[in-house]
Amino acid sequence: MARSLVSLDRIEVGRLKGIGARRSDVLAKVGLKTVYDLISYYPRRYVDRTNQRKIAEIAVGEEAMLLGRVTRIATRRLKGGRVIVNAIFVDSTGIVDLVFFNQPYRERQLQGADDVALFGKVENYRGRLQMTNPLVDLIGDRTGRIVPIYPQSASSGLLTRDVARFLAEALERIGEMEDPVPDQVVSRLGLLDRWSAYQKIHMPEQPKDSFSARSRLAFDELLRIQLLLVSEKVKREATAKGFSHDVAPFQIGNGTLASDLIEALPFALTPSQRQVLSEIASDMSSPIPMHRLLQGDVGSGKTIVALVSMLFSVQGGHQSALLAPTTVLAEQHFQSISAQIEDLLTASASDRSWSLFGDDRKLKVELLTGSTPLALRRRILLELAGGEIDILIGTHALLGEGVAFSSLGLVVVDEQHRFGVEQRSLIKERERSNSGLEPDVLVMTATPIPRSAAMTVFGDLDISVVNELPPGRTRIETFWLRGESGAEQAWSEVKAEVARGGQAYVVCPLVDESERLEAASAVAKYEELSAGSLEGLRLGLVHGQMKPTEKASVMDRFRDAELDVLVATTVIEVGVDVPNAATIVILDADRFGIAQLHQLRGRVGRGSRASKCLLVSNSDDDSNSGERLKAMVESTDGFYLAERDLAIRGAGELMGTRQRGRTDLKLASLATDKELVESARRVAIELVGDDYKLTEYPMLVEELLHLVGEDEIANLFRG
Ligand code: ADP
Ligand code: MG
Repeated sequence: MARSLVSLDRIEVGRLKGIGARRSDVLAKVGLKTVYDLISYYPRRYVDRTNQRKIAEIAVGEEAMLLGRVTRIATRRLKGGRVIVNAIFVDSTGIVDLVFFNQPYRERQLQGADDVALFGKVENYRGRLQMTNPLVDLIGDRTGRIVPIYPQSASSGLLTRDVARFLAEALERIGEMEDPVPDQVVSRLGLLDRWSAYQKIHMPEQPKDSFSARSRLAFDELLRIQLLLVSEKVKREATAKGFSHDVAPFQIGNGTLASDLIEALPFALTPSQRQVLSEIASDMSSPIPMHRLLQGDVGSGKTIVALVSMLFSVQGGHQSALLAPTTVLAEQHFQSISAQIEDLLTASASDRSWSLFGDDRKLKVELLTGSTPLALRRRILLELAGGEIDILIGTHALLGEGVAFSSLGLVVVDEQHRFGVEQRSLIKERERSNSGLEPDVLVMTATPIPRSAAMTVFGDLDISVVNELPPGRTRIETFWLRGESGAEQAWSEVKAEVARGGQAYVVCPLVDESERLEAASAVAKYEELSAGSLEGLRLGLVHGQMKPTEKASVMDRFRDAELDVLVATTVIEVGVDVPNAATIVILDADRFGIAQLHQLRGRVGRGSRASKCLLVSNSDDDSNSGERLKAMVESTDGFYLAERDLAIRGAGELMGTRQRGRTDLKLASLATDKELVESARRVAIELVGDDYKLTEYPMLVEELLHLVGEDEIANLFRG
């Protein structure tokens, strides 16, 4: 009888021949408890014996795979603690010397080892053939042309050849497996059936077997995630009740707040902003609650899109909330939104439905953060519950106890990457209980996320993209400067900028996790520069440990050009908008990730001044951080950088907040399996249809319930 994945997860590995109590413990230590765990312990790579070369026939300088044994091995310790392991490797045709630098474990691993596979470049050293730090695999006396190499764990004593043996036994005993994905989908996508895939990933007969097996199993991982996301989305759309906002956005002069605001703007919206607004308008006018992700590059003008959307809600007599990740950003939004709304107010207030009695009440915007004084906070909460506040802007303080709206129609979450998913669902839960209707939700990202990742991480949301910058933006030139002379060059660029009438930012190094240390280093840098390289310029300092009022006052003075240079920590990372600032120096730039560097760089290039970004770092060219800096120098396109970032860094961090049960990605890569992500999404949409309980696919449901955790999703499929 064909077995299901779930049934295999109910069989303990101890039931296999050759796995007794001791071995079971060893396997459990690396997380292999059941037969399902074992068959999804995938090879790290393969040794293809058909590529094997003989020592006698390889040329110096060639990269090759050799099979043979180690006959002698010795370890030397050099002064300064360096360790060199030397070994002699032989096959039936010759001898190669092996040298390993700083890999002291090699002596124990290779002592008298037979059946060693080496991969590396063969060189001539003093007349003898030599390989330095080759890739080493102990393949054991395994047969087959293609030998899978499993992750070994020295500490637990688990060897790749043991794993291979257990797997051979497991696969033989399984005999056959069910495929929960319909045949016609599998064949349309040109995928292997599931059972063949499990066999071929562990026992490929030819190299291409392992690739096709991997595709199928990676597809299954992605499909499971997509089924969850799509089911959740379909369920929400079928069951949740939201507002039908009165949008009517683009008829200028139709008396709505939104159109009045657009008319009063000092610029025209870009076609892309209009497109996104019409997507949002269509969502917001429908009674199905909106759950939309708004993507756009730094400076593409997402804030105005958010503000117009907030007015869609406010003009019908409902409220809007804007959730920002930092106090600095919340304050800035508060200032700029207050100013923008002040202008349009009086003209349109009397047209609003709730002011039929002619009380020309002004729109009311308030700011609520962790540092809002208690008395003010109390007043805000009262007015909020009484419906007198139209727009509430703030930090996570908005999510705190006691914050109750009278009729919250829209929540905008700015810079989503700083917030977890829990926060989103918290908003949802809370608001449903207050008004009976779910507010619309618009989530904005600070920097773009590659499409494959957005689809996986935010796959329960609809996605809108602002894909052009407003006209007239200047190009930002980016340079990577090294060493003392690099820093000196940065300071003379700053002085030149100020001499031209511009302003500059100096971003201080990121200090591990500690705002206090980071602040201290910023203070030190500020003092050093004031008395040294930037003496004579008007310097300001802002960091996370300052009181909010102090911060606000420094930011104001910088905005009003009373300061030439702002020395800052990453508190200025997002949102800060001072168009006259056109040079940014980022110290120890290698400490930052690409998204963060791109955000920081986005502080300049906001006005008509030619802008410069100077990355000061002593990283090596080919280190990971060097790759990031090179990418930054190459491009200012956030979408391109997001792809590069994903390739350099992997998806771990992005997926981090959304890891659920055992739906993790072991094989699939969001960076390289783009097509698989797309097909998994399409198939999920097709299979779910409008039946979010997936009643026609009980095997898939069983798998999801089992792997994700019954508690979390039982409601989804059973409720
Ligand atoms: P981000 O998408 O990074 O949040 P912002 O919303 O802060 O970008 O916009 C950056 C700047 O561009 C702001 O000063 C804003 O007023 C301005 N802006 C937005 N839309 C346009 C437009 N269509 N034309 C010109 N300037 C615009
Ligand atoms: Mg923004």
